This record gives sequence, structure tokens and C-alpha cells, in this order.
Amino acid sequence: MAGHIPEEKVDEIRRSTDIVDVIGEYVDLKKQGRNYFGLCPFHGESTPSFSVSADKQIFHCFGCGKGGNVYTFLMEMEGFSFIQAVKQLAEQTDIELPEQMTQEEPSQHSEESQSILEAHQWLTKLYHHLLRNSKDGKSAYQYLIDRGFTEDTIKKYQIGYSPNSKDFVVTFLEKKGFHPQTMVKAGLLSSNEQGEYADRFRGRVIFPLRNHLGKTVAFAGRSLGQQEPKYLNSPETELFHKGRLLYNFDQARSAIRKQKTVILFEGFGDVISADQAGVHNGVATMGTSISSSQANLLKRYVDKVIICYDGDEPGIEAAVKAAKLIKGVGCQTFVARIPDGMDPDDFIQQHGGDRFQKEVLDTSDTYIAFIMSYLRRDYNLHLEGDRIAYIENVLHEVALLERAVEREHYLNELANEFDMSVDTLKEEVHRIRGQKSPARDNVEQNRHTNRKSHSPIQNRLLPAFHNAERKLIAYMLKDPLIADKVQEELGGGFNISDHQVIVTHLYAYYEDGNGSDISQFVEKLDDSALKNLVIELAMTSLSEEVSDQEIQDYISFVKAENSDRTEIKTLEAELKKAEQQNEPIKAAEIAMKIIHLKKELKSTHS
Ligand SMILES: [Zn+2]
Repeated sequence: MAGHIPEEKVDEIRRSTDIVDVIGEYVDLKKQGRNYFGLCPFHGESTPSFSVSADKQIFHCFGCGKGGNVYTFLMEMEGFSFIQAVKQLAEQTDIELPEQMTQEEPSQHSEESQSILEAHQWLTKLYHHLLRNSKDGKSAYQYLIDRGFTEDTIKKYQIGYSPNSKDFVVTFLEKKGFHPQTMVKAGLLSSNEQGEYADRFRGRVIFPLRNHLGKTVAFAGRSLGQQEPKYLNSPETELFHKGRLLYNFDQARSAIRKQKTVILFEGFGDVISADQAGVHNGVATMGTSISSSQANLLKRYVDKVIICYDGDEPGIEAAVKAAKLIKGVGCQTFVARIPDGMDPDDFIQQHGGDRFQKEVLDTSDTYIAFIMSYLRRDYNLHLEGDRIAYIENVLHEVALLERAVEREHYLNELANEFDMSVDTLKEEVHRIRGQKSPARDNVEQNRHTNRKSHSPIQNRLLPAFHNAERKLIAYMLKDPLIADKVQEELGGGFNISDHQVIVTHLYAYYEDGNGSDISQFVEKLDDSALKNLVIELAMTSLSEEVSDQEIQDYISFVKAENSDRTEIKTLEAELKKAEQQNEPIKAAEIAMKIIHLKKELKSTHS
């Protein structure tokens, strides 16, 4: 299962990690009794059915049934291969992996992408080094300092400098063994018709663009003098999609989680500037409007998003679009307003971080207040026609609000401002909502049926023998001594075939001298459905002390079912024989017996 990674390493890394910390990076977990609960990242839900056990180091969703250990989680969440998941955690725990392993090809990326990724890691270091240690680099460094960047910021964001040379990077990458054609694709080199290669970023300040795992996947190069264009960015590659990358997400993640809020900027310059001024939960889109995949990524982490775009006309237009999209994925959406058409960076430079926090972020508008003031600009509210059109527009927005309190609040505001009866406005909103209600009802209904079909496993009605088998396995997973006893009495004689497979693996696992360790045990199972089942059983609540009698009762249930089934099987064989030998009376007798036995079986099932 572990491929080429020594099993001891896999175990060592797993033991040095706390699954609660790892999953906590993605899911807001709350402690409840012995376990942690949160909203499942794998299926849409509004009541938490996703649980993480710190004792057992496993997770399980009672909703969609997904479960596993820390590796399974990363594989599901990040689309990692097993090896990638191990590597990722190895990096976080500072555990060294054997050399040949770190070079091993992860299955997710093509060979080409892998080499593009490596080239970016090398160049990030090289550019950063050159900023500090080359002659030209030092003037670029000074330029950054003059613009207010601190030493810490330069280091944290690994800002660098690309020398003004035709072939500095060409030579560097060649020496490292990278294929120049691939590097052209990656936008690190350029080539002409003669097939000559040249450095693409020249004489520029380099900002590495990292993906959400902290790996540089692209660069943005800013010119220092008159050189055009002012910004030169990497082209899109398999690793870098502007519409998916959220700048600084990797570094902002813990602040975002702590504050339960993310600040969305338009440019990475704003993020860096805000971070330096004490606002650490900022991320940015890469000069494109926010995409639904980015909005969904945010939604996975937080409920509250503050959009902080430029205060000029295009900035406001972009903010309207972003606000609608973010509201659409279900986040509480706020929009910060920056006075005098300034951008966030300007404001911070001029007024400092404190005022930015207090006057811009803390006073940001709610979604509807922002939309109201945005709509207002198109109308002359002194004219009656305009006034009515404006109010109608606002009412349509208010009608979209889910919470009645919120709707009421804005209707009162409108009523006050325009001296209207709040009841009339309410009626109108009611009418608009009525038109939209079929769709809404569907959504509500789906949500409902989903929840029902995903009802917790404990509530499932299963035949007694089936429940007995599940309980037995749950206890066996917890205690090798119980497993020994069951093995002696039942062996592989479980009635459900999945259960047979699990106990067979479990016996072997304990025979290898292992103790109870569910997180490690699931590693031995190849089949993901089986893994999920084991996790599900391990998560069922058991009494701390189980009596021998209880275990014995379960075993008896399983045995009884077993012998009934065996008897039916024997009879069925006899029936077939009788039919073949053309003995109708004997066949009928046997058939009667079978029906009788099956009836009995059924009655023990309810
Ligand atoms: Zn789920």
C-alpha cells in the first residue's frame, strides 16, 4: 500500500501529526465530548455531521460516509496520491524521507508540471538571493525599502530580483538539467525562431505566486524603470490558473481561521501592504475578477468575507460583481469602502494600518447597504420616477435576503428615508419572494431529503445479526483480546462478506504484533469502501467496559444466523438435486422447509 515509502516512515509521520490540527486547517472544528465536529468539506451540509477523533486519529462523516486517517483526508481534500500526502506531512513535521523517495514521481502531476514546479522552487531561491547579494539586486532592494517594504516582508514573501541579463537564468536552468522548451512553456524563458533561448524576466522585482500549499507556481515581475509592461506575469500552466489561485492563501490560512473572516483584495500588493500593517487575513485574486471556484474555496474556510477593492470606478464595479458571487456561495458578504478613489495600498501608506482597520475594514458595508448605495448612483432621487425605480430595485435585492430580521431592517430603513408605509414595502417583498419561491422550496426540500437519506448510522435499522457483527468488529478494533476471542469462536464466520474481509485483515494485523491502532490499520486496506466501513465502525460509541457475556451474545447471534443460512444452503442444494432427479414430492417438501426457515430468519431481522 505504501508503495516505495518504508512503512516505518509512513507510521512515524502519521504519529508525529495530529489529525485534529491537519483537518482544523480546512474545517472549523468544535470539541463535543471526546470528538470534534464540523461541517463536512466533502458534501454540502448545514448541520455538522463530520467528526474527528483525536484518540483514534481518524475522521468520519455520518452524512456522506467518507472517513479515514490523516493521509486519506489529504488525498480526498487535495486530490493527492498517497505518496504526495505522505510527503506533504513529512515536510510539515520535518521528518526526512529517503532521497530516492523525495524524487519519486507523484502521480498527480505530469512529468512536465513536476519539472516546472521544481524550476520555480529553484528560481524563487535564486531571485531572492540575487535581490540581496547582487549589485543590481541591491538597487532593487533599495527600491522596495523606499516603497515601504520591510526586511521581514521581503523575506516572508520571498521577494526577489531577476538580473538584467539575456541568459543568466538560461544557464542556471540548463545546469540544473531542465529542458529549455519546457521552461519556455512555463514562461521562465523565451525563445526565438532560431531556437535560441533567453531569460524572460529581466531587471524586474520578482513576486513569487504560491498556491494554497505554499509552492511557487508562477511569478509576477515588476519593472523598475520605464520598461514595459509594468507587470509581467507567468502564463497559465497546468499548475497556475489565475482563476483558481488565491494569492497568500497559504500564509493567511491560520489568521483567516482565527478571525473567521477573510479580506479579499484585488492585487497582491494590497495583501502584502495590509499584512505589513497588521492585517494578516488578506488574500487576492490575480488581477482577474473572482471566480466561483475561488469563492467556493473561501466558503470552505469562512463565513465572512470583506471585499476590499480599489475605491475608483472600476474597483467599485468589480466589487459589485464579487459581492454577488460571494453572496451566492453563501458567505456573509461585506464591502469596504476606501475614500477618495484610493486603493488599499495607498490608504495604508498614507494613513497607516490602524486607521485602515478602523476606518475601512471595521466600517465596511453589509452587502445590501453596499448595493443600495451602488444603485443610488444611477438615479436622481429628487425625481419621483427615479425614486420609484430605485426602490423597486432595492426591494428585489432585499427579497433575496434569507433572514427575515435582515429584510425587516432594510425595509424600515427604506420606509423611513422615503416616508413610505413599511407594510406596503413588506407586501411588495412578499410578492417578489412568492414569484421566486418554487425554486427556493426545491432547495429547501433537497436539503431536507439529503439530510434524511444521510441519517446517522446508529439510527439505521439493521437485522439483529448484522448489528451484532458490527458491534463485534467495533470492539475487536478497539481491543486485540476481544479479537482473539472472536477468532477462536467464530473465525471468519461472519455473515456479511465485507465483515469477513475486515476481520481476516484484522486477525492478520494483530498477529503481526500490532496493538489497536485504527488509523494504521486502515492503511492496510486497499478498498476505500472497506476503509470507510472500518472507520464508521470504529466511530460507533461503545461502552468503556464490555462484559464477556455481551460479546458472547453477539457471537451467538452471528452463529445462529450462520447455521440457519448454512442449513438453507444445504436444503437448496438438495432441492436442486431432487428437481434434477425428477422427484416432485420430495422437492416440494424441501421447498416448504426452506420457506419456513427463511420466515424464521426474517423474524429475527426485525
Ligand atoms: Zn460528508
